Amino acid sequence: MKISVVGGSIGGLTAGLLLRDAGHDVRVFERSPSELAQRGAGIGLLPETSRYLTECAGVDIDDISIATSHIRYLSQDNSILREENHNYRFSSWNTIYRQLLSCMKPNDYVLDHEMTGWSDVDATEVTIAFSNGKTQTSDLVVFADGVNSLARATLLPGATPRYAGYVAWRGMVHETELSTDTLTLLDDAITYFVYPNSHILVYPIPGLEGETAPGQRLFNFVWYRNYSTGGPLEDLLTDISGVQREISLPPGAVAPHHVAEMQTHAKAHLPAAIAELIVKTQQPFIQVVFDLTIDRMAFGRTCLLGDAANLGRPHAAAGTAKAADDAWALTDALARNDDLLTALCEYEKSQLAVGHQLIERTELIGRRSQFENSWVPGDPDLIFGLKAPGT
Ligand SMILES: Cc1cc2nc3c(=O)[nH]c(=O)nc-3n(C[C@H](O)[C@H](O)[C@H](O)COP(=O)(O)OP(=O)(O)OC[C@H]3O[C@@H](n4cnc5c(N)ncnc54)[C@H](O)[C@@H]3O)c2cc1C
Repeated sequence: MKISVVGGSIGGLTAGLLLRDAGHDVRVFERSPSELAQRGAGIGLLPETSRYLTECAGVDIDDISIATSHIRYLSQDNSILREENHNYRFSSWNTIYRQLLSCMKPNDYVLDHEMTGWSDVDATEVTIAFSNGKTQTSDLVVFADGVNSLARATLLPGATPRYAGYVAWRGMVHETELSTDTLTLLDDAITYFVYPNSHILVYPIPGLEGETAPGQRLFNFVWYRNYSTGGPLEDLLTDISGVQREISLPPGAVAPHHVAEMQTHAKAHLPAAIAELIVKTQQPFIQVVFDLTIDRMAFGRTCLLGDAANLGRPHAAAGTAKAADDAWALTDALARNDDLLTALCEYEKSQLAVGHQLIERTELIGRRSQFENSWVPGDPDLIFGLKAPGT
């Protein structure tokens, strides 16, 4: 088939590569005029996210991620409250993106193509239109256009991501900039600090060029903080030049008074090691936390994939894993069925189930940590995983 994938991030790239390898004629269209960079900072790396790279592209997992062997909880006085053995892998959005992109033929990854609309999804072919005036006609269109998906908004009017009541402050620092005591305390672990109506996690990720060797890594933090709508959230999301953002504030865009407040709060309330990391972060950035449950992913000759479909909160570290898993499930369903609509129906059924349980699980984690204060360190339900904790 001739297949167009709209959105060239982790989900779109994985789908494009798998569908191409299955023999289809695939092009991935990305609205950004240049290759994507530095989005999302660190990611907890679940096997689904790296599956294409390790199974199909011969990439060594140690070259794209950092292994840790502990889950560590700190007390406010910087002592270790609890520690358990658990193996995780961490990477960065950039490292995975660049590896996937290197597997793509340059002509098949088309930048500067922002989709603005498409023809009847029930006709024998679908033509998508781009803001640059070009069009592309295909047998199947995969919409992997992310959290603010135009496809989702159009095909499912009213399905709008719900603000979870909190945002993630994020940032990273090169490990050589951290004191020896802090580095020792944070080493070989994901480190949590949980306190009323908030929690923060810290883990090592590859350097800016993907370096994974000790001495060349970054330490990344994700700090969930509550902001109510009707003032505080809007003020936070008003960037340095006065523009009101909705989804995120990239590095350098957060207003200085919010950065100062965040650093002051960190010094007063967080363990010294974590506060040090935060205060040394040059350009913290913000991602707003949303979720959204939808009940359809297939529409005629088109389908939604990744964050463009069901959208879970980040607490299972499974966003990119879900996007990649959708891509595998779609490719498998197309291989199993000669009829496209039957394949899409099968894809929809399996991936709705994956998305719904993820949303339910991560909503509960968010509610317990940010509002109910019933997060118990060591609770096995908190272990990262796409289809269940730890899987
Ligand atoms: C605080 C936070 C922490 C997270 N931590 C993790 C983690 O540890 N592990 C993990 O796996 N995930 C994590 N995630 C989630 C992860 O970032 C997303 O789930 C993942 O990026 C979704 O991939 P995607 O390809 O579906 O969409 P996206 O990455 O959003 O990509 C969508 C792409 O589509 C393009 N696009 C949009 N509209 C158009 C258009 N009209 N035409 C053409 N192109 C278009 C965009 O430019 C973009 O490149 C986290 C998210 C947040 C908010």
